[in-house]
Amino acid sequence: MLETLRSRFDPSEFALEEQAPVDSDPGPTSLKTPVVFIPGDGIGPEVTRSARAVIDAAYPHIEWLEHEAGQSVMLSDRSRGIPEQTLQAIADTGLVLKGPLGTPIGVGGKSANVTLRKHFELFANIRPVAELPGVPTRFSGAGIDMVIVRENVEDLYAGIEHMQTPDVAQCLKLISRLGSEKISRFAFELARAQGREKVTCATKANIMKMTEGLFKRVFEEAAADYPEIAANHQIIDNCAQQLVMAPEQFDVIVTTNMNGDIISDLAAGLVGGLGLAPSANIGQSVAMFEAVHGTAPDLAGRDCANPTALIRSGIMMLRHIGAFQAATSIEHALYATLEAGRHLTPDIAGTHPAGTTQDFTSALIDNLGLVSPSVPERPVSAMRIPRARASRAGSVARGFVGIDAFVEWDGHVDALADRLAKAIRRLPFRLELISNRGMQVFPENHATTEMVNHWRCRFFHDGSVGRQKEQQAICALLEAITNVCTWMHVERLQRFDDRRAYSKAQGE
Ligand code: ATP
Repeated sequence: MLETLRSRFDPSEFALEEQAPVDSDPGPTSLKTPVVFIPGDGIGPEVTRSARAVIDAAYPHIEWLEHEAGQSVMLSDRSRGIPEQTLQAIADTGLVLKGPLGTPIGVGGKSANVTLRKHFELFANIRPVAELPGVPTRFSGAGIDMVIVRENVEDLYAGIEHMQTPDVAQCLKLISRLGSEKISRFAFELARAQGREKVTCATKANIMKMTEGLFKRVFEEAAADYPEIAANHQIIDNCAQQLVMAPEQFDVIVTTNMNGDIISDLAAGLVGGLGLAPSANIGQSVAMFEAVHGTAPDLAGRDCANPTALIRSGIMMLRHIGAFQAATSIEHALYATLEAGRHLTPDIAGTHPAGTTQDFTSALIDNLGLVSPSVPERPVSAMRIPRARASRAGSVARGFVGIDAFVEWDGHVDALADRLAKAIRRLPFRLELISNRGMQVFPENHATTEMVNHWRCRFFHDGSVGRQKEQQAICALLEAITNVCTWMHVERLQRFDDRRAYSKAQGE
């Protein structure tokens, strides 16, 4: 049954904006679109109930399948916070409208929100940021109208962390060509579908040349396939400044996961705050719609949370399933309600008397059918979810250079260097340098680095053994290091197409 219903929509088409009014006659009510509905934690049940009521009033063709996830689930069975039935229902329907999920402190579980995004490879996080009527801000009238496209599954959010020593922690930042290409192409496809003219890539490629640099390079390659759309790059810290100084310059911003997390909250603040900011998480087969805000426990159960963010996420969902008229109708009613300024929740009521979540919801439903002149008109078409091209790894010539070994050592660096040099004297390696927290401290140390007990020891291979003996040499090197100190992890130093594929140490 679900399959039949899903086949009404092509999952490779994703429309954020209006295309053709296809929902005037959605057919018999038995052909309702199944959507997994997760109330969530904190203010989640209040704002999701509101959004659901609004959607039902404008488009009574959704079959809501209510499922659990989040804090209560995590606390009851200490699991990852998402029951198997919930995962199955999402896989079956491909659609989710959800409230925020809390991560209880001290249980040791990962965020259920992040788990859901990763489980279904929801690689694109889309956050539209535009001024709303009746919500005065410091930036009112600046002409803010942008979409932030955030890579959603890679980067520091891969969640690979290790305590290296009792005093030093590490988090791996993983950026792939595949992930960077999919999100870059997604940003251009979105720009094309929404008639937007420019895509800005925001990275820290000047410092993280391998990771953020790969993202920037792949973005620039993808840009060549979209010649009608302007493409530029900004360093992320400058982008943050520009967002505050001249936000009207941005149209679409595409960026890595951690950068995107920060600047999308910043951008939400420009147009009225978290209570208004919607988002969509899009993958090849599942689309999940949720507010940007979290559980806001300070407001939970008080009937005062602003449901606008979730209602706007619901509008994005309706467009995603092709219910364009209903989406536009809710948007007009929302804008009309905000413009009228009555029954607004305390976060945006300003000088007006504040209403409750339920008052605001009822006012909005009463306003369905009104037309607001403030709703922006934008030429639109359906959007393709891009796939990445085949990997080019096979055609890259690789050369082995050596090994970075990260070790724990409590003594002086000269003593460490001396003992390592002796331990490896019969091996085809030489100790090139030692760094501490990235700063070279051996052989030369002109800086005033404060040392911790975690050292990167770089060994260059002298090239005297053939490739087959390389592996044995590495094992012998590790054994020799073990005789001196404890090693935590080892990185292979390589050249790709004769270009250095590892970073230099600071001061090297
Ligand atoms: P979590 O730990 O789940 O992220 P949090 O309270 O730390 O929760 P948010 O939920 O994102 O973070 O919210 C931060 C603050 O923003 C809240 O304390 C609340 O004051 C405000 N806020 C968030 N969402 C809303 C909303 N829908 N309506 C009104 N205010 C909100």
